[in-house]
Parts: sequence; C-alpha cells; structure tokens
Amino acid sequence: MKQESLILDPGRVTPIPPAFDRRMTDWLLGKLQGVDPGGFVAATEDEVRVSHERPSCLRPSSLGHCERALVLEEASYQGEGPWTKVVPVALRAKFEFGTHVHRVVQAALPELAHEVRVQYKSIPGTLDTRGAKSVVDWKTINRKGFLAVKKAGAPREDHFRQAVFYAVSAGRTKAAVGYFLKDEKNGDGPSTAFDADHVMIFSGDADPALADEWEDKAQRIRDHVAAGSLPEYAVMDECRWCDVRAACHARLDLRLPDYGRSKIVGSTMAGEERLAAFVALREGDALRLEWEPTNEYGPRMPDDETQAAAIMVFGPTGVQVGYLPATGSPTASIVARHLRAGGVASATVIECTGGVDGRENHGRNVEIMLASAVMQHA
Ligand code: SF4
Repeated sequence: MKQESLILDPGRVTPIPPAFDRRMTDWLLGKLQGVDPGGFVAATEDEVRVSHERPSCLRPSSLGHCERALVLEEASYQGEGPWTKVVPVALRAKFEFGTHVHRVVQAALPELAHEVRVQYKSIPGTLDTRGAKSVVDWKTINRKGFLAVKKAGAPREDHFRQAVFYAVSAGRTKAAVGYFLKDEKNGDGPSTAFDADHVMIFSGDADPALADEWEDKAQRIRDHVAAGSLPEYAVMDECRWCDVRAACHARLDLRLPDYGRSKIVGSTMAGEERLAAFVALREGDALRLEWEPTNEYGPRMPDDETQAAAIMVFGPTGVQVGYLPATGSPTASIVARHLRAGGVASATVIECTGGVDGRENHGRNVEIMLASAVMQHA
C-alpha cells in the first residue's frame, strides 16, 4: 500500500502561521468515514488515585500553563518518592474520553506512527501522530472551545505550540492540531461524531524558536524551584481551575501595595438600603470586613470547596455595602483565609468614582489592612 502522509504543500518556503487546513480536515474525515466514535465507558468510582512514574510537570502537555503554577507544582515533587494524585471521577472521565477518541482516530490511520516518544533538548514527551513531514496533536474540546477556535480561524496558542514542540522534536517541519468537538448529549456524558461539524484541523510551520521558548520557560521554572522563589502573581482565566490556587494565594501578602488595593462589588444586589449606604461612602471611611463561609454563590475557598470565599463589607453605619471581589481576583479568598486563621481585617475607602454626568455608576476603591497578619507561607 502507498504510504500516506500528512504532507501539506511541499513547495512552500515562507513560514506559514497556523490556520484552518481544509485539505487535511477533508483528508481525515475521509479516513474516518464509517468509523464509530462510540463505545466510551466512563469510570464510575468517585475518585481515582493516579501514580506518576516521572514526577515532573515540565512536559509539552503542561508547559503552556501558568509559570507560577508550574513552579509550585514542580516544587511539590522535589524530594518525594513515587508520586500519586487523587483525581475526581468527572475529571478523569474527560481525560479518558480524550484518550478514547485518540485511539479510535489513530486506529483509522494505520499507515502513520502514533504515540512516539520524543525529546527536545531537556524536555521529553510523547507525540500523538507523526507523518512524513507533519506531526498532529489531537484534542477533544468542548463546544465553547470548539466555536472559539472556529471563529478565530486559528488553534489555541498553547495547543499549537505543543504540536510545534513535538514536530521539532521529531524532525518535522509542519505542526497540526486536530480538534474533536465533545457533545454532551442529554446529560448522558460525552459523545461525538466524525463529521465536518465536529472535526477541524489547523496547521502551520513548526518554528523551532517556539520550542526554544518553552525550553527557556522550563529552565526558569527549575531556577525558581532551586531558589525557592516564585514568578509574579497575575490574574488569568486559568486561576479559575488552577490545582495549586491555595498554595499560590498562600504566598500572596495583602500588605504589599499590589494586592492590598481592591474595590467594593455587589452593591446593587440587595436593594435600596445597601445601595444608599454604598453611595454615601466617602474617602477615609473605615470599613469592617466579615467572612461569609456559608454564602451559596460564587467561588469557593481554594482549599475547601464547602466554604465560600465571600467577604462582606460593612460601612461606618453598620450597613452592609457590598463584597470584596471573589471572581477573577484572589482578594476575597486571601482575606477569608486570614480571618479563618484568627486574623483581623479591615479596609478604608481611598477613592470614590462616578456619580457625575457621563460616569453615573458609582465606584468605591479601598485599601485593605490585615491585623495580626500572619500569612501562612506553607
Ligand atoms: S491561581 Fe492563577 S496565578 Fe496563581 S498559580 Fe494558579 S493560575 Fe497561576
């Protein structure tokens, strides 16, 4: 049989940025015609203990993550023996479904090499599928993510970079990311179909400079681990599902100016009295902060899902004027953690904004003070 390959246009010489590749997508769909993506059976245990042979997160599949998170994770492996992690069954089902799709797709492409171990300088990895000139990394992705890459006309930056890393490691000049849309059918769990509505491949040139940037990042992470230091904190989407959020927040000190400034939110949620008290706040007003662990809404404490990271803010008259931000900001969880440990927290209004023509919406910025501020650097 003639060897097939994931070759793009062989004559191209200028670097091609990643873009939707109709030719590769049609080629793959042709290969998958009649292939049944079903047959996935999710595990039913509540949680699974997974052991890792090589305890390091410095892998192509991880290096796109927050550098601060990777330092914390890598540091947690140091000096430990065989490393295990408890994974909730819902999360494990997602991984296993992805593996299931990989296997079905790879079985439909017997002429190509799959699951090939590679190494680029200091970082080892296992690529999904290798052709004569290209490497493809397969991704199962939810509807929101699928629509986002479709709209952007480009793969996610970290996904493409991962594919480039594998391609460069394998001596290939093209990198591709193949997305499979994961449907959630009637709450019955993930399913998918191999058609043009569920499959898209993006491809571009594998620029070694991208792989070198990850090598540099890996070295910075090793240096931080060796020095016991951390990269600067910066809020990002990833914070919402970050595994090491508790450890990250534990190392933030609200006494530093960057983290001690905040604002009052939720002032319009509870009717006229709260809003009036909020609008009446003036610069210099002292505010009382109180933890509300039983709040049913919003983010949970990073180390305890049963407790809310909610901090109520009370004005000088004793009326609640709102909350400290808990979504997209660590402020509330840090203050909550401090109060839970027996500390005392208060705040002062440092700036009043709005309430004028053209900027009617009121804002109140505050400075937070922690007394008995023993931050647990553990
Ligand atoms: S909480 Fe955010 S900044 Fe902190 S380690 Fe996690 S992803 Fe990084």
